[in-house]
Amino acid sequence: MMSLEGFKIIDESKQGEQMMVEPSGKSSGKKLFLESYGCSMNFADSEVVASILIGQGFQTTKDMNEADVIFVNTCAIRDNAEQKIRSRLFEFKKAKRKKPEMIIGILGCMAERLKSQLLEEEKLVDIVAGPDSYRDLPNLLSQVESGHRAVNVLLSREETYADISPVRLDQNGVTAFVSIMRGCDNMCSFCVVPFTRGRERSRDPESIITETKQLFEDGYREVTLLGQNVDSYLWWGGGQKKELPTETVNAALNHLLPEAEQSKFTTFADLLELVAQVHPDLRVRFSTSNPRDMTDAVLYSMTKFENICKYIHLPVQSGNTRILEKMNRGYSREDYIKRIESIKKIMPECSISTDIITGFCSETEEEHQDTLSLMKWSKYFYAYMFSYSERPGTAAEKKFEDDISPAVKARRLQEIVDLQRLLSEEQTKAGLGKIHKVLIESVSKKSPDMLCGRNTQNTVVVFPKGNHKRGEYINVLATSCTSATLIGTVV
Ligand code: SAM
Repeated sequence: MMSLEGFKIIDESKQGEQMMVEPSGKSSGKKLFLESYGCSMNFADSEVVASILIGQGFQTTKDMNEADVIFVNTCAIRDNAEQKIRSRLFEFKKAKRKKPEMIIGILGCMAERLKSQLLEEEKLVDIVAGPDSYRDLPNLLSQVESGHRAVNVLLSREETYADISPVRLDQNGVTAFVSIMRGCDNMCSFCVVPFTRGRERSRDPESIITETKQLFEDGYREVTLLGQNVDSYLWWGGGQKKELPTETVNAALNHLLPEAEQSKFTTFADLLELVAQVHPDLRVRFSTSNPRDMTDAVLYSMTKFENICKYIHLPVQSGNTRILEKMNRGYSREDYIKRIESIKKIMPECSISTDIITGFCSETEEEHQDTLSLMKWSKYFYAYMFSYSERPGTAAEKKFEDDISPAVKARRLQEIVDLQRLLSEEQTKAGLGKIHKVLIESVSKKSPDMLCGRNTQNTVVVFPKGNHKRGEYINVLATSCTSATLIGTVV
């Protein structure tokens, strides 16, 4: 992935991060080394894994050599994500050679994709556990202790881990992720997610609100509601959405059912309002939106509450309708433009970021130009930009040839990155001379005398420390900037 400086949802600096939690009272003396890769959802899942193992008396460690258990929570979205994990396994195996009783487990999307093949290929791996089998980890660990290697890659129809209170690993104490749904039903032709994370299930809104209230009481001041496709969130008592008639789902999502019927459903627009009402000092963000499913109802909910941040991550993937069709995205270039027009009309101050895949099967130079022109029109604040990576088992792998050469993919990706740098600079500069309400998150990485946080549009703002503390809201007048960061003084 290529990404620009700034605050990231797929934060490169967090990839491979060892996740720690303060020791709690009850300990078995066993140590867990937990490393995570991939998207925010994976990092949120690691907090569920840690919660389950801490419940078994484990403590976390950042030193793999002293670990009793090494778990690596993996990503399978692109081939290079898997290659990175394979080379990391080499290091874990060295640690295991020194301490043969150490248990090594591969969790998450790569585990789900490769299943027991991983045990064949990676001889020193003891556990393979997919994203829906984390409750089974204590049982899998005891199977290994009694001399067997253990695999659980069953995908569930219901699992949302709603009742498990995630422990917050290495957080800044201000911002936290809250999973609101699992899986994905969209079947984009390039994507492994439906195969590695299963069908879409929404989480009980009551458990989401309880978790959010607890976070606020614990001092957190921002939650990001997470799902592969948050706009398609729908709760009616549990189960998979595909079990309901499509017309009912569509009518419910658009708030078109008769009042008595509609009240049986909680949509994403409803959920956003419920979470925003937990406390006016709690900021609410969400990710990821899908242009195919986003409704104006969500936009109107955003306008009703100042604490719902005016920022939408709306992956476009390509600016060309033929390629979007081949990707099975469910919208055309024109539909996407209309979605952004609605956003700009309803919330002129809203910032938009995106994901782009370049060099998808059969993409021509003209079609690539369509992506560049749509980027210019959309004026993205930020973008995650990828070269297409063919994934085994996906519709694209089965139906299309991965026929764009690596050199052409790389050149097109560079053109996209260069353009995005200009667009980001332009958007950041537009914030100069304005006062931004900033939630303070941490000390700036570049200077211990500066603090940083973000404004509602998700732009990072840096300013002198003074007597301010993280978790406080302050107003900053932006006086200078880099390509993606505003610098200013507190007013
Ligand atoms: N659910 C979101 C959506 O569909 O818009 C995002 C899912 S994915 C975890 C994050 C991003 O990875 C995608 O938006 C896409 O840009 C990129 N991606 C997914 N599969 C890919 C592939 N096979 N090759 C390159 N990039 C890919």
